[in-house]
Amino acid sequence: MTQEYDIRVFPQVAANEQSLRDYLAEEKGFDVRTITHLRILRRSIDARQRTIFVNLRIRVYINEMPEDDVYQHTDYPDVSGRPQVIVVGAGPGGLFAALRLIELGLRPIVLERGKDVHERKKDLSQITKTQQIDPESNYCFGEGGAGAYSDGKLYTRSKKRGNIEKILNVFCQHGASTNILSDAHPHIGTDKLPRVIENMRNTILRCGGEVHFQTKMTRLIIRGERREEGGERIVGNGNAQVIGVEAENKSLSSLLSSPSSIKEYFGPVILATGHSARDVYRYLAESEIEMEAKGIAVGVRLEHPSMLIDQIQYHNKQGRGKYLPAAEYSFVTQVNGRGVYSFCMCPGGFVIPAATDKQQIVVNGMSPSNRGGQWSNSGMVVEIRPEDVSDDITLSRDNGITENDALKVMTFQEQLEQNCWQQGNMRQTAPAQRMADFVNNRLSYDLPKSSYAPGLISSPLHFWMPEMIVKRLQEGFKIIGKQAHGFLTNEAVMIGVETRTSSPVRIIRHTDTLMHVRIQGLFPCGEGAGYAGGIVSAGVDGERCAEMCAEYLKNEKGA
Ligand SMILES: Cc1cc2nc3c(=O)[nH]c(=O)nc-3n(C[C@H](O)[C@H](O)[C@H](O)COP(=O)(O)OP(=O)(O)OC[C@H]3O[C@@H](n4cnc5c(N)ncnc54)[C@H](O)[C@@H]3O)c2cc1C
Repeated sequence: MTQEYDIRVFPQVAANEQSLRDYLAEEKGFDVRTITHLRILRRSIDARQRTIFVNLRIRVYINEMPEDDVYQHTDYPDVSGRPQVIVVGAGPGGLFAALRLIELGLRPIVLERGKDVHERKKDLSQITKTQQIDPESNYCFGEGGAGAYSDGKLYTRSKKRGNIEKILNVFCQHGASTNILSDAHPHIGTDKLPRVIENMRNTILRCGGEVHFQTKMTRLIIRGERREEGGERIVGNGNAQVIGVEAENKSLSSLLSSPSSIKEYFGPVILATGHSARDVYRYLAESEIEMEAKGIAVGVRLEHPSMLIDQIQYHNKQGRGKYLPAAEYSFVTQVNGRGVYSFCMCPGGFVIPAATDKQQIVVNGMSPSNRGGQWSNSGMVVEIRPEDVSDDITLSRDNGITENDALKVMTFQEQLEQNCWQQGNMRQTAPAQRMADFVNNRLSYDLPKSSYAPGLISSPLHFWMPEMIVKRLQEGFKIIGKQAHGFLTNEAVMIGVETRTSSPVRIIRHTDTLMHVRIQGLFPCGEGAGYAGGIVSAGVDGERCAEMCAEYLKNEKGA
């Protein structure tokens, strides 16, 4: 027999299975010896009051053991010899698209500009040593995409529960803890994610798919394209159809075997290149592939001692104690008609250098699965809409190239990152300021210790960051400081700049077929296309693009 209950218990009871059994026996009148197994179906912490509770939905097995797996298993058939689909980008969008293609009997050929998830880690550790960014292998580029070295938070504002559960179950099948199926705020952790990603790649390979690293798509192969006389531009006519891609392979073996190392791959294309592939956006703009500017959010990473956040959020001077996890927070407010909010909070985590080119500073955050670090950080960002960015910005690039209007938010973002790099002494040492000093327009004479490994340099962020961001952040911090006593403090440091919160561009696609509005066989996918934000939603979009691509191939065959 099984019974399900919603219970509300102290953290020390929730943390220990025997205590839970004793609690259930006493509260529900069971003989404790008959409880053979407990399965937690939902877990959340209620820290609104001084006394903290853990809410659990729990399934109790009485005199029987569970027969089913904790997660739902997906079957992946052998797809060798089946029609192939090109998936550009091995982030969550691309990987989930590839796995779904296999489920649908299609053979994914995954092209990824960066290195495999383990080789990539070596390049990440070099950033602190050399103060340089490798433009092809960094926190955004490489197997696993931008999500590989992250907190691995798996919650999303999307309401489509079924799709979300599928993504979480696929993660479990590839080695993630099954706790992600029950936690209200699930996360995997940067120490566990690489193994999960490697297992996903092994499923693709075992089923007959291909994964090519250090292989960068440089061009779409478009049937029905028209080249303008004497120019490089590619303009699709009404019947334009993507039939493959051209890609450059930069691995050592390919450099030795073939001087040109350019190869063509044929099939419809799922383009899941993420929000940081500016060369892809520029290529698409030059090729007159319809896109539009999209709003983003821009600001700083804010880092507090995690003990302070625990004290504030758990209303306890002793912090979180033995049984609670590092505390989270989420703040949202409005200042002068724009949202100011915390973004991608990493309890017990690190601030990391997430730029994708040499002359930029971009910061972001990640945490290990135990969230046990000394500091807690989050992005504190201000909403920027396309109309907030001057149209002139498109003219002010160093190389004198006039950007397409669709790229104006991206250009704004890029210039801010370059400015930040200059303020940081043209290294990855990030400009930083104590929080209260920033609010009071004061330079910080010294800075607190920080998790940001490349180092910090004191800088008047209030002076050189755009005023529309500074004024709103200052006001927003005052509002949040009143809501959470102790949050607005000089013990916290602001680190510049957080800019890669979402895609600054949307590649326009049909809502029903998910295909580009004008070019057949091209499926803009995931965060970079402007249709997802975060690991889970990129995964969901990857699956949907795979399904639409399968439909497209079916119709093509039938035609
Ligand atoms: C440090 C950090 C922490 C984050 N933490 C979280 C978190 O905890 N939870 C969460 O939900 N989200 C988090 N995010 C955001 C999340 O990672 C992204 O939303 C998600 O990865 C988007 O997935 P995607 O597949 O659409 O794109 P991406 O993950 O960006 O993947 C795109 C891939 O395409 C490749 N690529 C680009 N151009 C080419 C080309 N021309 N040819 C071949 N390959 C190419 C890139 O190398 C990359 O691997 C974090 C992001 C960062 C940077």
